[in-house]
Amino acid sequence: MPAVITKPDTVEKLRILSSDAQYDLACACGTTRPEEHRKRGLDGRWIYPVTLPNGGTSVLFKTLLSNVCSNDCKYCPLRNDQDLRRCTLTVEETCRVFLEYYHQKKVFGLFLSSGVIGTPDRTMDLLNGIAETLRKKYQFRGYIHLKILPGASPAAIEKALSLATAVSLNIETPGAEYLSKLSSRKDFVKDIVEPLKLISRLTAKGARYAGVKQTTQFIVGAADEPDEKIVRYMFGLYKRLRLQRVYFSAYQQGLGAPDLPAERTLTNPADVLTREHRLYQVDFLIRKYGFEESDFHFGPDGRLPLDKDPKELWALRHPEFFPVNINRASREELIRVPGLGPVTVNRIIELRKSARIQRIEDIGKPTKLLRKASSFVCF
Ligand code: SF4
Repeated sequence: MPAVITKPDTVEKLRILSSDAQYDLACACGTTRPEEHRKRGLDGRWIYPVTLPNGGTSVLFKTLLSNVCSNDCKYCPLRNDQDLRRCTLTVEETCRVFLEYYHQKKVFGLFLSSGVIGTPDRTMDLLNGIAETLRKKYQFRGYIHLKILPGASPAAIEKALSLATAVSLNIETPGAEYLSKLSSRKDFVKDIVEPLKLISRLTAKGARYAGVKQTTQFIVGAADEPDEKIVRYMFGLYKRLRLQRVYFSAYQQGLGAPDLPAERTLTNPADVLTREHRLYQVDFLIRKYGFEESDFHFGPDGRLPLDKDPKELWALRHPEFFPVNINRASREELIRVPGLGPVTVNRIIELRKSARIQRIEDIGKPTKLLRKASSFVCF
């Protein structure tokens, strides 16, 4: 009997496409804890938790428009030579299902990405078409995050910026030499760096699309890239291109092509996730603690040590900086103490306005972090 091939309906398409969207973590708001990036909401397969810019939590409707892709990125399970069930949502289908969830207050906004259907601009037309339909036909004023595809034209990028609350274009690797190990089709400078710079110019303070947020994502561990280079690029992305957030996605062994560097060496999956976690710690130290590129220590292989967090490592390599006097140190000095985060530092500054701090217990319950801090401070 011949096999009966049925066309997937909207729910079936969403089941496939929202599951494939899990590999893209570059939501503009993200979650506060990196390990939560991959979690989905309890009540829906296409609902993902996020932290809002005001610190509250909410959920996004997150899906791919299509898992069809003409590209050959070796780390990606959707690359063009893979035999998998491919499908594409229509513009109306996407708008209808998203709005249904939105009106039921199940989601706060939309995160839309896609494989490359033929050409980047053809796909951008569809992504932009969904955003435009939501904005104009359905008068939707809420949050839309649009993926900018590598190689998208300036016109397509500008159109996306005119419709989206946030956009992301994944940088993937720290430089062309690493991207060339992963893709024969993407040109690092032309398809990724130039568009990132263009978005940065168009969203700068006072520019036409100021206010639209830009984020990006590195795939970590697929191309044998050292952390040192990722950190250098991260710095440039924050300082020169003023990106709002940089995300990291640990390459998951087994998903990519057998000739990937990451597939040739057996790696403990926990180590890859710890590496991703260390990069998030570096990211946090740059954004919130004022750490500079030169403050990070790398091993001879250019990797961040896995056994210690980067802030503690900095402290251990700078004994001349310690002990820090809890009662006299500046905020910048206090924040360098392992175990003290911005919240505890604020508490210390408040407390010492009224009384001298005499012991670690004066700051709060002696948690593991405060006990760690106690060996780096004096009173
Ligand atoms: S462009 Fe590359 S990473 Fe994106 S879906 Fe296609 S193969 Fe995957």
